[in-house]
Amino acid sequence: MILPKSHRLTPEQLNEVTAIVTEFGCKIQPIIGAVRTIYAIVGDERDELMMNRLEGLDYVERIDRIQSPFKLMDKRSDLATHRIKLGGVTLGEELLVIAGACTIDPKNPNYFYETAQAVKEAGAHVLRGGVWKPRTNPYTFQGDVKSLDILLEASRRTGLPVDTEVMEEAQIALALDAGVAVLQVGARNALNYSLLRQIGRAIANRPSTSVLLKRSIHMGPLNEFISAAEYITAFGNPNVILCPRGTTPTLDGYRNHPDESITPLLKEKTWAPVVVDPSHSVGKAAYVPAASLAAIAYGADGLCIEAHVEPAKGIGDDPKQSLTPDVLKKTIAQAKELWALRRR
Ligand code: PEP
Ligand code: MN
Repeated sequence: MILPKSHRLTPEQLNEVTAIVTEFGCKIQPIIGAVRTIYAIVGDERDELMMNRLEGLDYVERIDRIQSPFKLMDKRSDLATHRIKLGGVTLGEELLVIAGACTIDPKNPNYFYETAQAVKEAGAHVLRGGVWKPRTNPYTFQGDVKSLDILLEASRRTGLPVDTEVMEEAQIALALDAGVAVLQVGARNALNYSLLRQIGRAIANRPSTSVLLKRSIHMGPLNEFISAAEYITAFGNPNVILCPRGTTPTLDGYRNHPDESITPLLKEKTWAPVVVDPSHSVGKAAYVPAASLAAIAYGADGLCIEAHVEPAKGIGDDPKQSLTPDVLKKTIAQAKELWALRRR
């Protein structure tokens, strides 16, 4: 829809816009109002170049897109009936809980084995554990491939499927070969389109593999988040879960700006399930239970929570953000109650 700066386009301007859209197989249909005439673009208006050319005209005030820019992630796409199953849960039908350590400590694997058992007992369906870590400071612990064996051993001991972050192609291959069920794309890489494409390609023929796509702190419009998911699903595997995890600017006292309130907005646009990460959002264990419940109240399909048997002995984010098993258990129980209440 073209909205001109003046009340209507001059005949020359109308000719110019008609010539542009014709080149892309579309037509112009004027809609004459009492005061103003607007111009519908009839045809497939998803072509970026056509829109850019129209937007560049100095007599055009604004172009409103009627069609969604994403073909697969759109709520109206054929995929809208697709359901993702994970750890015995069908997303959307039951609350999904992913929990576990931020970072696996390869020197002290027992902490992770005990954490894995504890999160299972607390009611989690998927075990998370960081093998490779994106650290702001290049001189801090960057993760260790040895932790992949620890993650898998914990999976064997508990029977829980596992989630870990991958940041490069070699890690994607290692994680998939090892049988990791959920590849996590972190906030720092959610805008790394070549990584998103590599992941999409790598899981194209693996219907039991899913992706937990974190929201980048640098993402503004929701379309940016949903389009990042489309980069992955475009290769054929639709198992992508959106994960708000706090954004920028930080709210004084919190690690990020909590963004669980975007869930209802996401759900107006996309069928993708939303699993909120309250741990990175607020960044302090004391605030995580409240943020978890807020996420459920806003309509989240699940939670991804950092937990550790002894947070103070953990590495990475665990000392400040991880819940102890008893707090995790209580939080999951309350989240389940709220989930049931919400759906009544
Ligand atoms: C994490 O899950 O430990 C992590 C690094 O998350 P994010 O990418 O959201 O910062
Ligand atoms: Mn973390």
